[in-house]
Amino acid sequence: MINVEEALELVLECARAKTPKTVSLEQALGRVLAEEITSDIDSPPHDKSLVDGYAVLAADAKVTPVELTVNEEVTAGETPSLPVTTGTATRIMTGAPIPAGADAIVMVEQTESVEGQAADVRLAKQQVQGGQHIMRRATSLRRGEVVLSKGALVRPIEIGLLAEVGRPQVSVFPAPNVAVLSTGNELVPAGDAPGAGQIRNSNGPMLGALVQRAGGRHIDLGIGRDDQKSLSQLVGRGLEADVLVLSGGVSAGVLDLVPGVLASLGVAQVFHKVDLKPGKPVWFGVLADPKGDKLVFGLPGNPVSSLVCFELFVRPAMARLAGGSADRLATQSARLTNDHRHRGDRPTYFPARLRPVEGQSQVELLAWKGSADLRTLSSADCLAFFPKGERAYHAGDEIEVILFP
Ligand code: AMP
Ligand code: MG
Repeated sequence: MINVEEALELVLECARAKTPKTVSLEQALGRVLAEEITSDIDSPPHDKSLVDGYAVLAADAKVTPVELTVNEEVTAGETPSLPVTTGTATRIMTGAPIPAGADAIVMVEQTESVEGQAADVRLAKQQVQGGQHIMRRATSLRRGEVVLSKGALVRPIEIGLLAEVGRPQVSVFPAPNVAVLSTGNELVPAGDAPGAGQIRNSNGPMLGALVQRAGGRHIDLGIGRDDQKSLSQLVGRGLEADVLVLSGGVSAGVLDLVPGVLASLGVAQVFHKVDLKPGKPVWFGVLADPKGDKLVFGLPGNPVSSLVCFELFVRPAMARLAGGSADRLATQSARLTNDHRHRGDRPTYFPARLRPVEGQSQVELLAWKGSADLRTLSSADCLAFFPKGERAYHAGDEIEVILFP
């Protein structure tokens, strides 16, 4: 049986970034840039004032207090019409261009108007440094300079930067479409009261939410019955998406029909079963398609197994399709809060809670009652990893954890 690292490698080899698309800034949020962005402007576009105050000659303020004649007033968006010469000043607002001649700005708080002469100003006793409160043209950006690289994630900050450099449209890698199909004769929708032998479909909504959180477009295929015809029809629809995620029907039960149905629809199996707990029966395959291969994940039906397999395999694949480089698992180390005896024939991913204690990450193992225990899982925010074998861990021992983003 292959291990988690080998399985993830196989998944990533099959996952290629989608064809880039030009979208409006509004649609670019959360996407990865498919082009390098250069600036078409200098920023600031002119030497500008960083404060509200007076543009002066620093030499005039060698000895303060001193009185100066005010030439004019310049607000942001205007341009000065008069130079500042010795004995004069220009009233200037934050962001406005510096008048010719001026080499320092004195904050308005350090000035007072001169009684009876509204146009004049007195600079209070202070030191005035040449260049003070002036931001020189192109300090933050130079025209033609690369401001964002291909592969950068577009966050709200990048949206602002793209707007600043005149890019209302940008080329990005589109979000993957991910169809989710829950299989099982026992399943009823969340809105129904389960009858004898039935349970509600919790995986479908959970996986749909995971897809959305991971930046994908969720296509809900609902519940598939465990029969060839019903599954084939729904899987056929699912194969129109970039990724199809199924839950259930991949183990060794008599109604575990998913691998057979996928094979009959031309999906080539890449692996079935991975050395891990929970989630061993996980299935992965690919349907060749000229417009981009379709990735198909058959996750085991137990909700905890489904979640673990989503985090280990589906999320990294989605990141790759979306053009991102964050396609490795987000691991970190943390210290156990309690003693723990681990005995397992497979590497184990144990739902756990991470918390900072005195500047250190500590991980608390939860009283997990098996693979179906979503309730305990709801207080988890990471998976604690234990290699296979038997070992007694002590409180304070460092282990590896995988974060839920
Ligand atoms: P399976 O992988 O189909 O053998 O299912 C394994 C276990 O997970 C069984 O106990 C199923 O009833 C349960 N299960 C399967 N699908 C779901 C689902 N969508 N929501 C909740 N539990 C499920
Ligand atoms: Mg089943």
